[in-house]
Amino acid sequence: MNCHPTLCGMLVEVDDGQVTRVTGDPDNPDSRGFLCVRGQAAPEILDNPRRLLYPMLRATRGGRWRRATWDEALDLIVQRMRAAGREAVATWPGHGIFANNYGTRIHSHLLRRFSNLYGCQWWSPAIICWALGGFGLGLTGLLEPNTKEDMGANANLILLWGANLASQPNTGRHLAAAKRRGARIVTIDVRETEAAAQSDETVLIRPGTDAALALAMLHVLVVEGLVDRDFVARHTIGFPPLAAHLRAHTPAWAAEITGIPAARIVDLARRYAGTRPAMIVVGGSSMHKASNGWHAARAIACLPALTGQVGIAGGGLGPRHGASLRGQVLGNIVALDRRPPGDDVPSQMTRITESLVSGRVRVLLLFGTDMLSSFADANRVAEGLARQDLVVCYDLFENDTARRFADVLLPSTSWLEELGCKATNTHVYLMPQVLPAPGETRSMPWLLRALAERLGLDDFFPWRDDVELVDAMIDVPATRHATVAALTAEGGMRAMDVSHVGHPDLTFPTPSGKLELFSELAVSRGLPGLPVYEAPADSPYPLTLRQGRTLTAFHGFYDHGQALPSLAKADPEPVLWISPADAAARGIPDGAAITLANARGEMRARAYVTSRIPAGTVWMRDGWSGLNTLTSGDAVLPDAAVEALGFSAGQAAFDARVDVTPLG
Ligand code: SF4
Repeated sequence: MNCHPTLCGMLVEVDDGQVTRVTGDPDNPDSRGFLCVRGQAAPEILDNPRRLLYPMLRATRGGRWRRATWDEALDLIVQRMRAAGREAVATWPGHGIFANNYGTRIHSHLLRRFSNLYGCQWWSPAIICWALGGFGLGLTGLLEPNTKEDMGANANLILLWGANLASQPNTGRHLAAAKRRGARIVTIDVRETEAAAQSDETVLIRPGTDAALALAMLHVLVVEGLVDRDFVARHTIGFPPLAAHLRAHTPAWAAEITGIPAARIVDLARRYAGTRPAMIVVGGSSMHKASNGWHAARAIACLPALTGQVGIAGGGLGPRHGASLRGQVLGNIVALDRRPPGDDVPSQMTRITESLVSGRVRVLLLFGTDMLSSFADANRVAEGLARQDLVVCYDLFENDTARRFADVLLPSTSWLEELGCKATNTHVYLMPQVLPAPGETRSMPWLLRALAERLGLDDFFPWRDDVELVDAMIDVPATRHATVAALTAEGGMRAMDVSHVGHPDLTFPTPSGKLELFSELAVSRGLPGLPVYEAPADSPYPLTLRQGRTLTAFHGFYDHGQALPSLAKADPEPVLWISPADAAARGIPDGAAITLANARGEMRARAYVTSRIPAGTVWMRDGWSGLNTLTSGDAVLPDAAVEALGFSAGQAAFDARVDVTPLG
């Protein structure tokens, strides 16, 4: 599933056209033979009775599917696209189409090229993933991570701040290496995660209060003289206003908000400043899923800035999903300069939902994604999907969106049935096609070429074949000019020419080129100039719901794992973590059937009563049907800020306060 920055290597044994064995590749420098339970389940994709093998059409939603030819399906799609007009057509890709090209994002870039040349809406997949957290880090200026290898070899204190290992289990090997050297590991999270089990200590925090903790730690650095004044003078701007702003953000103030005792906040700040090198691994996505979550990333990025722990081995920010290292720049095929002017809906979740509901968008093409489970305020999204003239889902399996709203299903090839090329933070990998495409499954490039031909987009695919397409992306200085032919000759992998240390020359992608403790750019886009803590809105519902990951699921892959028997068996139904106190107050025993509800929606689940989560917080793995009927679809950033850093940070709030009751 490619939980970047890992991307495990597989050895696939094929006999007479059948896969006989899939094992971890011990020679893969990123994964060293490891495959998690998700990777081990991958062979269950092949020959799976639920797999989509043929284009399917139906006359009415909820009606029976019938098999169609590709020509019939594509002709219908193009006819509806033409009838709606290009600006009323939208494409939205998900992680599913990255399955064979994460890190290079070839299929996503190809879809963006198609959308730019045609002039339809294109929305970034990053709006449900790493981008909003990246926005917070990027306003301060710390976007480049140090690698997991650097963390294992050099960090002496590691703060796993909202960062779990369930998404990126390979990071665990490097944490273990750091521990063997005597490094101390601290987890900061809303519950005791898999990462907490690997840590020396766990700091449990109230959801949505991470910015308050970071501001109080910054306060301690300033009042106790723990600031690296030379570094701050040379490499940051805005220290005087930040220092003045921090006066009120005392540990006692933060203790009330976060639930963490003031003495512990002081101790954490002192240890962070007093340990060199110290690294912070910031969560990729879950911790930013609230209206104020991105403020935390912005404030956290000030900690290395004030202590001068930037651009050094073992310091800075650690491995983060979706982040790129210095020098990790691949080819650009998206043809943005050729996009015709038009009525563009920004990559802002709230605006996207509005465009579906209002009829501004009428034909929706979804690629490897389950929009209904991904977007916040799912009932409103469902309203918008119901109003579409045509919904097309291209995937390996049906998912909630496809079952309820698709008019056309297009069957996708899997990772062994097409040419693939991926990149981690440090290596580029080639995945040759080893199986014929089953049934009438087709690859993403094939599908987009067929659509482009029908639409008369002559220059959409200027390459002779998929090999030339891959070469156009990877034949760049960062890969030392890798090509498919060169990688094939080298056994399929090559180390990239990148720095294991983020911001090694202490330059930063901000308007000033320095770390910006105060950001004029933020002010110009309607945001506060300094990092702030914003209290969540009051709610009549008593429990704060958070969502995250388990080892058995990653994004919406394989109908959220339910299409693969071993993953479905391991994780068969929605389970809600709830504290013993909250469960007892509601008469809920462990394992009981429950309902979560608020004014927006409700869902059923089973209670997991555990002291690993504090009272007042409940938690569930993301993706379950109905979960996002409970979450807020309000915009987090002003539209003017969404693209301010060159990537789309238009995630909705996902805030959810709920109550939980026993069922029946
Ligand atoms: S899902 Fe598992 S096997 Fe696949 S890349 Fe991630 S850790 Fe590796």
